[in-house]
Amino acid sequence: MDWGKKHNKYVHTIEQLEEYLPLTDKEKKKFQEVIKIHPMKITKYYLSLIDPKDPKDPIKNMLVPSVDELNVSGEYDTSGEAENTKEIGLQHKYAQTALILSTNRCASYCRHCFRKRLIGLPSREVLSRFDDAVNYINEHKEIDNVLISGGDPFVLPTKIIQEFLEKLSKIKHLRFIRFGTRVPVFMPSRILEGNELLKVLKKYNSKTKRIYIVTHFNHPREITKKSVEAINRLLKAGLIINNQTVLLKRVNDNPNVLSELMLRLVSIGVNPYYVFQCRPVKRVKHHFQIPLYKGCKIVEEAKKKLDGHSKRFKYIIAHKTGKIEIIGIMNNYIYFKYHQAKDPRNLGKFFKKKLNKKAGWLDDLK
Ligand code: SF4
Repeated sequence: MDWGKKHNKYVHTIEQLEEYLPLTDKEKKKFQEVIKIHPMKITKYYLSLIDPKDPKDPIKNMLVPSVDELNVSGEYDTSGEAENTKEIGLQHKYAQTALILSTNRCASYCRHCFRKRLIGLPSREVLSRFDDAVNYINEHKEIDNVLISGGDPFVLPTKIIQEFLEKLSKIKHLRFIRFGTRVPVFMPSRILEGNELLKVLKKYNSKTKRIYIVTHFNHPREITKKSVEAINRLLKAGLIINNQTVLLKRVNDNPNVLSELMLRLVSIGVNPYYVFQCRPVKRVKHHFQIPLYKGCKIVEEAKKKLDGHSKRFKYIIAHKTGKIEIIGIMNNYIYFKYHQAKDPRNLGKFFKKKLNKKAGWLDDLK
């Protein structure tokens, strides 16, 4: 059982949701249709951040189902995760990094999730035997770091997290371990209540194997007193925290919101790391993706408002072929550079594509 379920933190049904937000009969019917395909899960804490009187509330847009999810344009695996899977629950796309899908559960289910195909659903892509992953990493000496993701590893019982760390810390060629988590955003109580998780993280965070936390804050209103407290505890435990954000329609597609988010993150000790272009995922693309042209404008305008420290993030397309930085637009062309590449020959490659103002993804450009 995950930590939040044990502590009765979640809302799953439309009837429960109605206790927090006004819903029309039509919405209730449509939402039911949506959550039959991709389940709903929202912490009561996160629901308390929504302004129920604002139908366009950005916090609500990220977590509450929408009729826009009935549009199925796009595909489910936009980054080629299936072809990079080497063991159940272990992906190896970039030479140095192993990615572990530790669970199919999260503290809440983002409607924009790019792993929507498996979140909250039965899946064969999620780790079943951790030892198989450990064996694979042991045999691949080029792997110097592991990203434990999911789903959200911090919803797992602490003893499972401890087991992961115990086994990984014995692998000599590993230099650092990352946890990708949205728990500080959705359920800071997981970090604040009791000291077990922090104790475990602190114990395994060593000079030879640093632990990094990769958070996923998308909007300045997610930075609350409680989430700041959770971040403070993680920092005090000696962990380094980086943040990745997804650029989302009706959430943060505004230079003021994006720059405020970056500035606030830096002010609480979190480093801006990536801003991702929203992937063309089925039931996500139509709802959340903005064109690259617009994305470039927003990112550049946001950067104009920021000091060097707060704008260290890269604006990235997480493409099948690699992580591609979107450099900018000039003379009717968009310029890109491979930041990470599945084929190492592409690393650092700089290229341009003719601008199409409606294109939302690299493959939409000629
Ligand atoms: S927390 Fe991360 S993995 Fe979970 S639903 Fe949100 S984006 Fe997806």
